Amino acid sequence: MTQTALPLPCTSRSGLFRPALPLLLSLALAACTSVPLPPWPAPGGAAKAPLPAAPAPATIPVTVAPPVVVIQPVPARPSGVVTPAEAPYSAAVAARFPAPSLIYSTPGLQEGRSSFTSNAEIQNWLRDLVAAAAATPALKAALLPIGRSQSGETLDALVLTRAAGTEAAAIAASGRPTVLLIGQQHGDEPAGSEALLVIARELTQGLLRPMLDRINVIIVPRANPDGSADNRRVTTGGLDMNRDHLLLNTPEAQALARLTRDYRPTVVVDAHEYTVVGRFLQKFGAVQKYDALLQYATTANIPEFLTKASEEWYRRPLVAALKSQGLSNEWYYTTSTDLTDKKISMGGTQPDTGRNVNGLKNTVSLLIETRGVGIGRLHIQRRVHTHVTAISSVLASTAQRASELRQLQPYIEKEIAGQACKDEAVVEAGPTPTQQELLMLDPITGADKALRVEWNSALALRKIKTRVRPCGYWLSASSKTAVERLRLHGVQVLRVTEPGSMLGDLYRETARSAGERQDVRGTISDAGQIVKAEVALVRGVIDAPTGSYYVPLNQPLANLAIAALEPDTQNSYFANRLIDNLTGSARVMAEPSLKTEELP
Ligand SMILES: [Zn+2]
Repeated sequence: MTQTALPLPCTSRSGLFRPALPLLLSLALAACTSVPLPPWPAPGGAAKAPLPAAPAPATIPVTVAPPVVVIQPVPARPSGVVTPAEAPYSAAVAARFPAPSLIYSTPGLQEGRSSFTSNAEIQNWLRDLVAAAAATPALKAALLPIGRSQSGETLDALVLTRAAGTEAAAIAASGRPTVLLIGQQHGDEPAGSEALLVIARELTQGLLRPMLDRINVIIVPRANPDGSADNRRVTTGGLDMNRDHLLLNTPEAQALARLTRDYRPTVVVDAHEYTVVGRFLQKFGAVQKYDALLQYATTANIPEFLTKASEEWYRRPLVAALKSQGLSNEWYYTTSTDLTDKKISMGGTQPDTGRNVNGLKNTVSLLIETRGVGIGRLHIQRRVHTHVTAISSVLASTAQRASELRQLQPYIEKEIAGQACKDEAVVEAGPTPTQQELLMLDPITGADKALRVEWNSALALRKIKTRVRPCGYWLSASSKTAVERLRLHGVQVLRVTEPGSMLGDLYRETARSAGERQDVRGTISDAGQIVKAEVALVRGVIDAPTGSYYVPLNQPLANLAIAALEPDTQNSYFANRLIDNLTGSARVMAEPSLKTEELP
């Protein structure tokens, strides 16, 4: 139904992203016709390796729940907890979401609790798991302190592996793909965090443990502990950390970037919840229906093979796993906070979210959202069950595809590096307007309510601005902040050690205004105004003094560098004042013969 109405990524991209060069064409065709680079099984083909004893997710939980959901009485509450009197919809709607047949147990899911697992309880939970793992032969577990939140809370990552150790080098030496699981970047979306505590326990001492024979897993159950403590979306300083993954202005996003740089995951899962009533009820007179909304990276310059792997190896099995549990799903979508705007958009196409930036880091990057924002503890067992089911599927897919994934990343990295100085770079892309059938629920009767909506599809990316791909970027010696952020991502930056000159394109400003960053919801909770410049490219000679920088594009993270360094986009380092002025960077258009050194 709705999902087949959308073109498959392969089809849509070959239609809209017409390759400019024969090389690109052959790669695009290879991606569409299963030419084995990397070896690519036919869709639906048998797995090359048998699955480890992956449990059906329903077998994980601990005790039996009542078969029909009842809106639980909730004691005096902290902010954000919904009581029966305030339940945003009728009992008939609630009855559409029966609890799973088994219930999950974490501190925050205990009967009678009015608050979710606290930050201290998460730390204790993780420490207990590390202690338990120490008693298990050949299982290594460690709690990595990866940073501190703006209010000083410790940010922790749990590493679980059968490698020789838990440090990054040992994980790399294991040869197994690593899955990074991230919960609760938005503080008012608790189910992902509770589910990750369940997943951590089951990997360490439960039914998911056999997975670790094939994969390494890193879990950050709560990426935004301050937002969680305040039951609000944003971080303490008011910034939305899930629009900060390119800029890295928040210590929370920096912590995840450093972790990703050092541990190089193959797959990243970002667990969220979405608004159930609120503006959807106001705009459409309906309640949101889908247990899970799903999307992978959809931003400019994502390699075709990566999209194909995300779709075929991950999303499709994930959908099947959800269905097997009686859980419904759809592509991720949202709508703006402007009540007169009834358009619905898939998750954004900007390189700002974890989903898209991790895609630019060449990982399979998956967003999983459950119906949870604004309904407090309603249906919490079902929300957690949805996340546990989905995440277990991702772990199983990774274990099953481990050998293919080992080939995929080096292949993609080589492909990207090989595009430097030639081919096209998409500087900005947007979604394609279309229409879509969605099912929502009547808020009184609970019956399905079919809607045909204006729909911005992120699967069919529309090119807005393209340029010839440079060999690299030159950055002035005063670009220290930008260089620091690029290096946090793992981008290779070289320092010029002797004055030199290069052929390049300089940016000449043709217009400027101030503005705010936007996403499909509206204005982003942000640090302030951005600089919206229009530029013309002027071919010339760049004089590169000692102490200035060169960012070569013959590297795996070239597409991330493009997103950061082409100045005339809303997420660029220039627009967001990490680079002071337009003369502080330039496109290098011929392979330079510079004397440079690696930064320490
Ligand atoms: Zn969210």
